[in-house]
Amino acid sequence: MKKNKYIFVLLLLISISVVCTCGTFFYVKFNNGSNASAASGGKEDEFVIMTSCNPVYIATLNVVGDTDGVTVSNLSQPTTGCLHDYTLTTEDMKNLSSADVLVVNGGGMEGYLDDVVEAYPELTIIDTFEYVEDRVELPEVEDHEHEADEHSQEKSAAQEPNDFHRTVEDEHEGHHHEENSHIWMDSELFAYQVQAISEGLCEADADHADIYKENSTEYIGVLSNYVDKSDLESLQGANVAVLHAAFVYTAGSLDANVVAVMDLDEERQVSAGEVSDFIETIKEKDVKLVFAEYDYGNAMGKLIMEQTDAKVVYLETLVHGSYGVDDYLTTMNENYARIANVVE
Ligand SMILES: [Zn+2]
Repeated sequence: MKKNKYIFVLLLLISISVVCTCGTFFYVKFNNGSNASAASGGKEDEFVIMTSCNPVYIATLNVVGDTDGVTVSNLSQPTTGCLHDYTLTTEDMKNLSSADVLVVNGGGMEGYLDDVVEAYPELTIIDTFEYVEDRVELPEVEDHEHEADEHSQEKSAAQEPNDFHRTVEDEHEGHHHEENSHIWMDSELFAYQVQAISEGLCEADADHADIYKENSTEYIGVLSNYVDKSDLESLQGANVAVLHAAFVYTAGSLDANVVAVMDLDEERQVSAGEVSDFIETIKEKDVKLVFAEYDYGNAMGKLIMEQTDAKVVYLETLVHGSYGVDDYLTTMNENYARIANVVE
């Protein structure tokens, strides 16, 4: 990991010096690209905001609205899922070099963040997780390895939250879940992210502060009025299990009780023991519902359906594909509709 980071920094430095020495060449080359909206770079009076992933991209689009002279673009997105192990492309770095602000989810989601801070010391970074963490008590990160452990309750009581996080991080190499950073999956927390972006932009671009404030207030109102969980009250206090840490927040948004977490993604190898512990927990705790992501969870999902009474419902996490200004609301409501279908 260390070595990779070193190589990355080296590549970064090389590309920066290349950009510096052949600036004109690169300027022409990148601006011929079709996706160069963010790097329209040349316009000096343009305020350029980059975002790291779809949830904060959508939030920022709503805060900015159609403000003249402000552009919002998303960095290129991984095609396989969450950002956790994503590294920036050359085009991303070029775009960042002409950006005024980078809005990130934070909480360890963007593994490349330290390198960005180092390479672009002038860039203003709005870290939405940090903002939320300072204001809301977030659920503790579960360590699934110890979940079936008979002493787990004493342990979690005795263990500092930070130790807990470290255990999770060490456990699967290269996968950084120091925190459960998927906060956007709970619209109330997402509203705080919107607020974080609004406050950060008001400071970084004071000329447009009134517009940002107005837009964010309006969008937060939309979120609290139009995220529809009305058919799901029966899940309050119910035991559920999740196959991706993101759904801990989905469960939290419904006041359901998460009793088992198995964080599946493209590089996760699950042991037979872990699978049987998970199945056991579902049976023991009378779990009726399991939230999963289809791409990584469907094999495990099938097994759960075969071996337990629980139903598995497949949800979206907003990390796949490209999204527009209204897509947070539609995606969350689609998720809740899918859950409601299974619950009834
Ligand atoms: Zn994830």
